[in-house]
Amino acid sequence: MQSTIEGRTGHHVVVIGAGAVGCASAIEALRRGWRVTLLEPGEPGGEQATSYGNAGWLSSHSVIPPALPGAWRKVPAWLLDPLGPLALRWRHLPRALPWLLRYLASGWTEERVQRTADALRLMLADSPVLHARLAADAGVPGLIEHRGLLHVYRSRAEFESESLAWRVRARTGVQWTEWDAARLAAEEPDLDRRYTLGIHVAEAGHCRHPGAYVAALARHAQATGARLVKALATGLQIEGGRLRAVRTTAGDIACDAAVISAGARSAALARAAGSPVPLESERGYHVMLEGAVPVGPRTPMMAADGKLIVHAMVPGLRAAGQVEIAGLVAEPDWRRAEILRRHLVSMFPALGDGAAGEALVVRHWLGHRPSLPDGLPCIGHARATPDVVLAFGHGHVGLGGSARTGQWVAELLGRAERPAALAPFDPARFG
Ligand SMILES: Cc1cc2nc3c(=O)[nH]c(=O)nc-3n(C[C@H](O)[C@H](O)[C@H](O)COP(=O)(O)OP(=O)(O)OC[C@H]3O[C@@H](n4cnc5c(N)ncnc54)[C@H](O)[C@@H]3O)c2cc1C
Repeated sequence: MQSTIEGRTGHHVVVIGAGAVGCASAIEALRRGWRVTLLEPGEPGGEQATSYGNAGWLSSHSVIPPALPGAWRKVPAWLLDPLGPLALRWRHLPRALPWLLRYLASGWTEERVQRTADALRLMLADSPVLHARLAADAGVPGLIEHRGLLHVYRSRAEFESESLAWRVRARTGVQWTEWDAARLAAEEPDLDRRYTLGIHVAEAGHCRHPGAYVAALARHAQATGARLVKALATGLQIEGGRLRAVRTTAGDIACDAAVISAGARSAALARAAGSPVPLESERGYHVMLEGAVPVGPRTPMMAADGKLIVHAMVPGLRAAGQVEIAGLVAEPDWRRAEILRRHLVSMFPALGDGAAGEALVVRHWLGHRPSLPDGLPCIGHARATPDVVLAFGHGHVGLGGSARTGQWVAELLGRAERPAALAPFDPARFG
């Protein structure tokens, strides 16, 4: 990646979207001497961003795409189970079907899963370290912790039913320690005793307040020179293969480069840059118990039976999960959040019914995981012009993956070629 874009006259980049990916990209672009405008209609790190309400895992080992070999056999049962981890709004099916078929196909064989895992590992392997550095620079070092994550199972058989995923992880270099029932009970005294096996991944980390963290990154970008413009990008002005301006609800912003990091809402802008991509929202929910929560996990944990993550965060106890395929505009189905709440209290019975009242406030949230069907984000130049860099589609791992993505984006800016290592993320893979 040696050549710069011919005829470049300036160094002003507009970063579209101030979620985790946009903020990390803005910070890295500033470090490389770019003048940065950060474009965001809401508050950076606010509830409109998926980066606000996620589970806070910086899981360097989350390299497994959601669809695995044989997933298609399980899908009907999941869809028919009202308490299951997957839901589909039938009205959205005709639009989502091509995406769903590609999603299942990309995990059809172990070899394909391994290829995806190897690519994701590149992005995630050192994410806890990179985020710890970003947090320190942004003045919020306490929001990132690096002391492992936990998967909990009811039996060895349940763990072994995920053996393919752990085998693939091991081949990417992930290591873990098994906690037997006694160790698990000692480490996690509040956890229901039906869980008898813990898998502790020491290399992983977590963020204790994702919304506050992203807000701090945006403030840090501003403190080091970025201008925050509260507006929505509506289009791109591209002439003769060069970007001239980003069109926004506050007028055109003249610039030399742009980064499309608008999360699940990036597809129209990518299309305007000549790169149509099959981006879908994998909607997810969280439930928060706020107030003096008396019990919870010592280490953020994923329960294999409910496919949810439980994390004791700064603002309270969060249970996050669920995948709902229903597009960007359908109303939330808060029953999905209620499923999470019920599972949470079954994991930590001392919570009682965990309902509103007493000291606890219960909050629900819906977010849109920006997901491409092969489980990999798009990080690379747009087809119409290398002045535009695409950086979206991080699906289930965008908080963790944002730090490395920001560095890659800064490497791509002002260049016409991409590093070979970024080939798996090339937007051109979608034709
Ligand atoms: C329930 C749940 C749990 C999750 N758990 C984890 C986890 O534990 N770990 C992990 O790594 N990931 C997790 N994720 C995924 C992660 O949250 C996302 O991948 C990540 O937040 C995506 O970040 P982003 O910056 O691309 O998008 P966003 O955070 O959505 O940010 C995009 C921003 O762009 C703005 N925007 C949109 N359109 C425009 C426009 N036209 N012009 C200007 N701005 C625009 C939006 O307002 C928004 O602020 C989870 C997701 C969900 C839903």
